[in-house]
Amino acid sequence: MGDDRQGRVDARRSGGQGIAELIDSLIHIIWPTACPICGRLGKLACEECMETLVGLNEAFCMACGQPVPCAAHPGGPECRAATEYFGACRDVVHVMKYENGRSLARNMGVIMGRRLPRPRADFLVPVPLHAGSEREYNQAEVIAEGASSVWGIPVRPVLRWDADVERQALRSSGGGRQLPAGAMAVNRAVAARSAVLLIDDVFTTGSTLAAASDALRKVGAEVKGAAVWSRGGR
Ligand SMILES: [Zn+2]
Ligand SMILES: [Zn+2]
Repeated sequence: MGDDRQGRVDARRSGGQGIAELIDSLIHIIWPTACPICGRLGKLACEECMETLVGLNEAFCMACGQPVPCAAHPGGPECRAATEYFGACRDVVHVMKYENGRSLARNMGVIMGRRLPRPRADFLVPVPLHAGSEREYNQAEVIAEGASSVWGIPVRPVLRWDADVERQALRSSGGGRQLPAGAMAVNRAVAARSAVLLIDDVFTTGSTLAAASDALRKVGAEVKGAAVWSRGGR
């Protein structure tokens, strides 16, 4: 193949690529998302892809993440996770958090509800969003709504972070530390004398769930345990 002909082929090939890229970018403008599992455009995450994610459905100690029965927290509440915080299950969390994937969060909750046993609880309590958060919605609450649609148990967002703790959290760096007592406040009128299940997106150290649990117990609520989309921190 002569240089001249090769040059024309290259030009045509790069021209074709240019058109393909243009079409791709137009699709991204029209449907600015892609499934993090299969890459299909226009989808935050396909439901069929979500169903293929590796299930975990394993109970562990809500206070420390150790297998149950936990020697350090005997008889303490258990947490269950629908998936392991790894690979596509972790990618789904990132897309949900950083691409404002409200519909994805709801699907995660639906899958969580199908995978985990229905809890004996009066209502589901999502872990609250920090006041300074830039998120437009509380992902834990939307996940709870998805699970609620499967279990038929209502969602009651009765927790909020204490303002002083929020300020301390903004100043300090590094996760995994123990949260101070009274880190969260609770709507006593709704939560008192109820059996509740806590809902969060990812279990890491258990310190957030412990703070939520303390606040709820203080007003006489019974914390049945927690359910999360993914289990990380190991
Ligand atoms: Zn997909
Ligand atoms: Zn434990």
